[in-house]
Amino acid sequence: MQRVRTRFAPSPTGGLHLGGVRTALYSYLFAKRHGGDFVLRVEDTDQSRFVPGAEEYIMNCLAWCGINPDESPIHPGPYAPYRQSERKEQYRSYAEQLIRDGFAYYAFDTSEELEKMREELRTPNNPSPQYDHTTRMKMKNSLSLSVSEVKDLLDKQTPYVIRINMPSNEIISFQDMIRGEIKNDSNLVDDKVLLKADGMPTYHLAVVVDDYLMKITHAFRGEEWLPSAPVHIKLWEYLGWKEAMPEWAHLPLILKPDGNGKLSKRDGDRLGFPVFAMDWHDPKTGEINKGFKEMGFLPEAFINMLALLGWHSGEEKEIFTLAELIQTFSMERVHKGGARFDFEKAKYFNHEWIKHSSPEKLLAQVRSTLSSAGIICSDDLYLTEVIGLVKDRCTFMNDFMQQASYFFHHPTTIDMESLKAKWDDSKKAFFSAFVNHLENLETWSAEQIETTFKILAAEHNIKPGELQLPFRLMLVGGKFGPAVFTIAAMIGREATQQRIQHVISLS
Ligand code: GLU
Repeated sequence: MQRVRTRFAPSPTGGLHLGGVRTALYSYLFAKRHGGDFVLRVEDTDQSRFVPGAEEYIMNCLAWCGINPDESPIHPGPYAPYRQSERKEQYRSYAEQLIRDGFAYYAFDTSEELEKMREELRTPNNPSPQYDHTTRMKMKNSLSLSVSEVKDLLDKQTPYVIRINMPSNEIISFQDMIRGEIKNDSNLVDDKVLLKADGMPTYHLAVVVDDYLMKITHAFRGEEWLPSAPVHIKLWEYLGWKEAMPEWAHLPLILKPDGNGKLSKRDGDRLGFPVFAMDWHDPKTGEINKGFKEMGFLPEAFINMLALLGWHSGEEKEIFTLAELIQTFSMERVHKGGARFDFEKAKYFNHEWIKHSSPEKLLAQVRSTLSSAGIICSDDLYLTEVIGLVKDRCTFMNDFMQQASYFFHHPTTIDMESLKAKWDDSKKAFFSAFVNHLENLETWSAEQIETTFKILAAEHNIKPGELQLPFRLMLVGGKFGPAVFTIAAMIGREATQQRIQHVISLS
C-alpha cells in the first residue's frame, strides 16, 4: 500500500481563519490515522497577494494547535523546497509540455484586448464572458494565429500567458471523499491561465505539479475550490499522471451562527468573537483581528471544537485529545453540509478543557497571564494550589486574572453594596472579635478557621451563614471564589486580618 501523504497548502495572504485550521486539522488527522505524513506547502505564487509575516504566522498557528507538519519550509523533507515561489523554475517545463501536447496554448492578449472581448460579447444572458471554447478562436493566441505569427510574437518577446485548452462537450467527473461522485460540464469551465506573464505559475498549475511531485495521496481543501476541480482533473490527465491523482476531499463551509453564509472575519468583529486562530496584525492595513489564543483558549479546546465542527465521532463523548482524535477520525462521518459556528459551544469546550487540565499543565500559561496583570508569583506550589482552586470557574485563560488575583494581593475594589445589605453593628462586633481570635489560632488551616468562626458566631448569636458573605467580600472583594475558609487559609493569617480590618474601617 502506498504511504498516505496529505498536505495543507495555505497562501500567505493574511490571518488563518478557523476554516483553514480545520482543513489543516482534518488533513493532519487523516494522515496520522493512516500512519502517513502531513506536509505544509506554502502557496505563494501570487505575488500581488503576498503579505509579509503571514507565512511565519501560519506556522506559529499550527504549532500552537499542536498540528506539527512532518515536512515544511522550515523542516524540509525529501521533496524540498516547500515554498512554491522557490519551485518557480520547474512549472514552466510542464506548461510547455502541455503546449506541445495540444492541451495548452500561448495567449498574447493585452488587458485592453481582454476587456474589449468582454465588452463585445457581454449580453444580458452572459454578463461576464469568459476566455473559453466559445471565445478563444476570436482571441490572440497560438490556436487562433498561424505558426509563423506565433513564432514572430515569441521572437519579439511579446508578453504572454499560457492557458489550458479545456475540452468542449465533456462531462468531467471525479470522486470526492465527502461528496461522492461530482460531475462538471466542461463547456462551463473557462481556459484558466496556468503560467502568468511574469513566469509564475497560477495556483491551478502549481497545485497539480506539486501534489504530483510531492506524492500527495489525499488532498483536503475548502469547498470554495470545487469550481476549479475540473481544471485540476484535466491537468492530471493531460500531464499523464491520472493514475497518481490524489483523492479529493472538499470540506464544507463553516457558516455564520445563524446559518446564513460563510463565516467571515467581519462576522467575528460584529458578533464579538475571534475568527482567526491567533491575533493577526495586518501590516498593510494596520488592522488587528483577534485570535482564539489571545482570547484565552487552550489549543486543545480549540482543536477539539474544530474537529467536531463538521465531523461527529459516532459516540456521545465530546471531549477528545488530539491523540484520541487521531484514533477516531474517519471521513465517513464528515458532514456534507456546512457547519454553523457556535461561540457558546466553543466556550463550553474551553471551560471543559480548563476544568479537566491538571493545575501543573496550566501553570506556565497562568503564570504568564497573571504576570501580564502585574502579578508575579515565583512559588510554583502556591500557584498550583491556587489554579486547582479556581480553574473550574474559568471559561477563558484570561479569567484567571480575576479569579486568582486576590490570592496574591488585597482586592482592589470591594463590593460595598452587597456588604451593606448584610451589615450591621453586631456583625461589625463579630468581625472585630474574630480578628483577635485569629491571632491566637494555633494551626492556620481552613478547618481551624471555620471552627473558630462558627463558635464565635454562636457566641454572638448570629447564624454563620449570615456572616459568610461579608467574610468573602472582605477577602475576595466580590461574590465569587472557592470556599471562603480555604481562601483565608491560603492567603495567611496576616492578610486575612488586614482585609477584615480594612473593611471594618470602611463600614
Ligand atoms: N492555496 C490554496 C488556498 O490558500 C490552497 C488550496 C488547496 O489546498 O489546494 O486556499
